[in-house]
Amino acid sequence: MKRNDEPIGREQGAEDQPSTTLSRRRFLQGLGYAAGVTAAGVVPAVLTALPQATSAAEAQTAESAAAPGGEENALAKIIEEDQPVNYPGKPVWYAKDKPAGKEKWAMVIDVKACVGCRKCVYACVRENNIGRTSGFTYIQVLEMEPGSVDLETANANYEEGGRPDKWYLPVQCMHCAKPTCVYGCPVKATWKEPDGIVVIDYDKCIACRNCMITCPYFARHFNWVEPEVPKAEVNPDVPLEEKTGVVEKCTFCIQRTRTGGTTACTEACPVGARKFGDLNDPNSDVSILLKTRRAFRLKEELGTGPMIWYVG
Ligand code: SF4
Ligand code: SF4
Repeated sequence: MKRNDEPIGREQGAEDQPSTTLSRRRFLQGLGYAAGVTAAGVVPAVLTALPQATSAAEAQTAESAAAPGGEENALAKIIEEDQPVNYPGKPVWYAKDKPAGKEKWAMVIDVKACVGCRKCVYACVRENNIGRTSGFTYIQVLEMEPGSVDLETANANYEEGGRPDKWYLPVQCMHCAKPTCVYGCPVKATWKEPDGIVVIDYDKCIACRNCMITCPYFARHFNWVEPEVPKAEVNPDVPLEEKTGVVEKCTFCIQRTRTGGTTACTEACPVGARKFGDLNDPNSDVSILLKTRRAFRLKEELGTGPMIWYVG
């Protein structure tokens, strides 16, 4: 069967993990970056390598963030703009009928802490019944040169993480405030829930793959085969056979987060590089990080409003 993805081979250290594929060239070419919500705090080497604002809109964002109270205002605006899109009025069925609460979920990833071990990738595969032969993972970790954000030369297929002469950038669905994937679905099989999580109803997906084209982060993956998961490793809380012949992606582990848990990737990270939490809670890790650290988002200039930030 013909696939769009280029195989990138078996990942190092994944003795019991599936091989992965990724449209690497398409993905890397598609990525961009920009200064983020805060301008305060420590500026590590990798972030000083980022360009300054390249547009009037970015400059304005940076200016308002730097003004007294600017971080609070910028955060309040982000929360306000993160509204449901095409929400059918009841939660996606694999959220266990748990409707969204008052939270606005977000993730902050510390690229200075990340050691590129890919434990987040493997935990995600296990938690989310990603087919071991489906040829993709929801998370990819990119290896970068120090002081560089040259995504053209980023390596998604590196052999071993933890190299002191590299840095690592984990990427996945950004749960955008303006999810172009949702706008691109002709049958409303995908939507944004009130707490910000972008989901797919696999029973409604007609496999047209428009959402894959309209997602600028290449975060959606088409499952050509029946997901193959060893019986003993099947997570009963997550769809399995329903994901055959449809598009799938990260759901911020809705089966966990709706019931008070955190995402599997956050839990698995051995160095605490991932923080997941509620932007409506001023004391959450994510709120504090965004108010106190310099942060950036990928492809900020597109206006998709990713709900994943990077600090370092
Ligand atoms: Fe949709 Fe892509 Fe944004 Fe995820 S990253 S919400 S799939 S547009
Ligand atoms: Fe980086 Fe943590 Fe993922 Fe390892 S588990 S690659 S340290 S984010």
